[in-house]
Amino acid sequence: MNLIFLGPPGAGKGTQAKVLEERFGYQQLSTGDILRRHRAEKTPLGLEAQAYMDRGELVPDDLIIRMVETELGASGAEVIFDGFPRTVAQAEALDALLARQGRGAVAIAFDVDNDVLTERLTGRWTHAPSGRTYHVKHNPPRIAGIDDVTGEALMQRPDDTEETIRTRLAEYHAKTAPLVGYYRKSPVTKLVHVNALEPIDLVSAQLVNMVSGGMGDAA
Ligand code: ADP
Ligand code: AMP
Repeated sequence: MNLIFLGPPGAGKGTQAKVLEERFGYQQLSTGDILRRHRAEKTPLGLEAQAYMDRGELVPDDLIIRMVETELGASGAEVIFDGFPRTVAQAEALDALLARQGRGAVAIAFDVDNDVLTERLTGRWTHAPSGRTYHVKHNPPRIAGIDDVTGEALMQRPDDTEETIRTRLAEYHAKTAPLVGYYRKSPVTKLVHVNALEPIDLVSAQLVNMVSGGMGDAA
């Protein structure tokens, strides 16, 4: 079953996607990571997306939907959609895409309070090539500034500043939060919730339980 991770920036979607990838063999499809790859490679999409990303605004739907169609085309694995969809138009496009490919999905809402997000995001350190993330306090790397797995340098994302976070959260509340209602009403995609305020390990435990239990008992 494919998984759709819904939640604001800093909810822990990327962190948990890596856990489920490792444990169950899912493929994480993070639209943020894919966009950052396009930017690093200076592709036309990357160049078009960069101003939106730097301001903390959403990249236009048509660019994102085309990008996801391209990424998904080749994949046979079960996918975790991380950071997509972020608008109703993207959710409708994903419904159509999944139906065309005969795939189903469960949407998982990461329930979290606004007031923890800025601290999570300003303390985040990222290994850019893999998208692996750490937190200076909640999940520190073994050596400060160094990725545990590769020994390469970690970086702080330029959009993880307080000012850009404010815009990103406003975008989330205006455009993405309504997707919880969208999936609650969906006749094809079940919606479940995790308490994403808990420490990382306990959020992972909730998700592992849901996935191993076939999602049937999830609240
Ligand atoms: P998202 O992908 O939803 O934007 P991340 O998974 O990158 O969020 O997490 C944002 C930051 O918060 C990272 O630094 C991560 O280590 C940290 N983090 C993730 N989950 C938790 C949690 N449950 N409690 C505390 N910090 C967390
Ligand atoms: P993220 O890595 O998920 O925090 O995303 C970083 C930035 O990439 C966002 O602030 C947006 O500018 C852009 N982005 C990522 N995913 C999407 C999406 N599904 N729709 C629109 N913009 C996106």
